[in-house]
Amino acid sequence: MPYKTDYHIHTTYSDGRAEPEDYIHSALIAGLDELGFSEHLTPFMPPQKWNMDPENITKYLEHIGRLKNNMEGIKLRTGLEVDFFPGREEETRAILSSIPLDYVIGSVHYQGNETVDMGVEFYEGKDIDKLYEAYFETTIAAVRSGLFDLIAHCDLIRIYGFRPSFDPVHLYRKLAKEMKHHNVAFEVNTNGRNRPIADFYPDRNYLFIFSEEKVPVCVNSDAHAPERVAQHFNEAYSLLKNSGFNEMVVFKERKKTLVPF
Ligand SMILES: [Zn+2]
Ligand SMILES: [Zn+2]
Repeated sequence: MPYKTDYHIHTTYSDGRAEPEDYIHSALIAGLDELGFSEHLTPFMPPQKWNMDPENITKYLEHIGRLKNNMEGIKLRTGLEVDFFPGREEETRAILSSIPLDYVIGSVHYQGNETVDMGVEFYEGKDIDKLYEAYFETTIAAVRSGLFDLIAHCDLIRIYGFRPSFDPVHLYRKLAKEMKHHNVAFEVNTNGRNRPIADFYPDRNYLFIFSEEKVPVCVNSDAHAPERVAQHFNEAYSLLKNSGFNEMVVFKERKKTLVPF
């Protein structure tokens, strides 16, 4: 049995459908060893319905803190899923430095002022080759920034199924090398199965690259509803095993530890 963790969970503090307690209930049923919360924090953008009101950060930390202190049978972790904006690294660092967390997930949802995952219109009339290159370039900048412990859905640009005219293998290789160099983990994000691409992130055809480069990995559900906690995890674990992984990364107080898988 692998040590089971799920560090990518959204509750009503951002765009999830239920309270943290409801996800803990699901996690206990799923037999998870650790459950981590990761609300959306999107600095530098006007408030939107999918991200957390920064005014609520303290309330969120206190809420999870109370649950941590009273919990048996599962370890709880506190995280955030923070949008990365190139050029705003130092401001982001200043914001994060005052928030005590177990881990910070870095996400590239934006290219410029637009999100890549909120509608297929973003892709219309655009050069997909250039979009792929730009998306990976931004993700690599996020890795290099030193702001993040883990990168979410590292090839989210696949979401609507658009493919570049070239084989993007070199983009994955470069990303994996940078992740290893900066000790940043990636996730197998099983929520891709519920999105238009209908498969996990990253593309399973390139998982061997992350394995060859020895990038730390974990499996996350990106659940926005309690019934999706740990969804498709057994499939993700076998996929990782078959791709050559034998360790998983766990997070506590911004430190990473590898556990056998
Ligand atoms: Zn995300
Ligand atoms: Zn998420």
